[in-house]
Parts: sequence; C-alpha cells; structure tokens
Amino acid sequence: MAGRLLSVENIDVYYGEFQALFGVSLEVYEGEVVALVGANGAGKTTTLKTISGLLRPRRGRIVWEGQDITSVPAYQRAELGIVHVPEGRGIFPYLTVYENLVVAAYTRRARERFEESLEMVYELFPRLRERKRQLAGTMSGGEQQMLAIARALIQRPRLLMLDEPSLGLAPKLAREVVYLARRLRDEYGITVLLVEQNVRLSLKVADRAYVLETGRVVREGPAGELEKDPEIRRAYLGI
Ligand code: ATP
Repeated sequence: MAGRLLSVENIDVYYGEFQALFGVSLEVYEGEVVALVGANGAGKTTTLKTISGLLRPRRGRIVWEGQDITSVPAYQRAELGIVHVPEGRGIFPYLTVYENLVVAAYTRRARERFEESLEMVYELFPRLRERKRQLAGTMSGGEQQMLAIARALIQRPRLLMLDEPSLGLAPKLAREVVYLARRLRDEYGITVLLVEQNVRLSLKVADRAYVLETGRVVREGPAGELEKDPEIRRAYLGI
C-alpha cells in the first residue's frame, strides 16, 4: 500500500467559543481520492481550512508524511504541496485568465515549474487557453471553476483539496467537475481530498469517504460500501 500522506488526529476546532469540530480524525494515502461528505454546516470546510493552516486546532494534530505540521503556517504548507481550492473559487475577476494563473504561482515550488504547469493546465482545460486574455469574471460559472482548479494545479499540489467544486453548476457540469478529481489522480498522480454536498456523486468518484455530522466523523469506509449502506442511503441519498 502507498504511503500515508496526511493524518488529521483528533482535532477540536473552534470559532471563538463555538466548537465546530469534535475530535475529528482522518487519513489520506498517496494516490487516493477521499471524499468528506455531510450536510450543510457539518464541518467540512472547517476541516479543510485546518488542514491548509487557515485555522488552528485547539487540540489534536495535523501530520504530513509523518511530520507534525500543526504549527506550520499556511504558506509553508503550500510549499509542501498542500493546496486548497476554496468554496466560492477565490479567483480574481478583474484579472485575465492568464494573469490569474501567473499570480497563483506565488510559491517557490510553483515558480520553478511554471511554464511546464501552464502547458499542462492548458492541455487539461483547452477553454482556458482559448480564453487566456479574457477577464476571469466574465466567464461562465463552469469556466471559473475550471480556472480555480487550474490555479491550484499551477501550485503543483501533492494533495489537492477541493471544497464544493460543483456548487452552482448545472448537473452535467457538476458531474464533470467532480469526475475531474478522478482524472487528476489517474493522469497526474495527484491525491485528492474532495468536499461535496452531492453525496451520491462523491461516493461514485471517491475511493474512500468520511461522513461528518455536526462536527464529528460518524462513518468512514470504502465509498462503494457506504453507497450501499441502508443508513447512508436513507440519510443522504434520499432512498
Ligand atoms: P458548508 O457546506 O455550509 O460550508 P460545512 O460542512 O463546510 O458546511 P463549516 O463551514 O465547516 O461546515 O461549518 C461548521 C460549523 O461552524 C457551522 O455550524 C458553521 O455555522 C460554523 N462556522 C463556520 N464558519 C464560521 C465562522 N467564521 N464563525 C463562526 N462560526 C462558523
């Protein structure tokens, strides 16, 4: 089995006095697509932000390739290859597509291989090459989501964390974007941690999944098993 890339060990995370996560633990192995699913407000985004270093856990640890990175700041985690595509995309609407890609290369890791990464991103998303001089904010929602993912790829992720990539997209595009997680793993060897409200779709795409409820991991396992689980089907798949 491939090596363990990430472990989240028993983290408690607070916003002020409000506790959002209660002893959350999860693991991601190299080459996996792992989904983190759950209802609105379950703590999925909070978990990703804690992994990328935007939030500090009050208890517990974040471990990357065996090293405790709990107190490593976010920009240094990006140098390690931990890259987060935030919910709402985080692109710059008044910059062109190309400029958005240039400013994404703020880490040394990204700058060193920028030309090569640019070519890879344009091959993966030919639309972005066609529209490289267009202002990002004038593109369709689907194209903007592609750009958000392209910006993350420019950073040469080893672990790519996608927060609700399908949000606001028409069903067909939503499928495409979520299936992209699988392609990135298969074609580029990128490990993916996917947060999705569309449980059905994420269980199709992921190898393994964790189910979060009100800040706690309540289920985990191979995605195929969870998909067949009567309780999951009732609670999340409307069956
Ligand atoms: P969503 O899909 O809506 O983003 P989520 O599963 O990602 O849901 P989180 O955004 O992680 O959930 O939120 C977990 C809990 O923390 C929720 O109860 C939410 O209201 C609360 N919360 C999130 N951000 C903040 C904040 N900045 N300040 C206070 N509470 C917050």
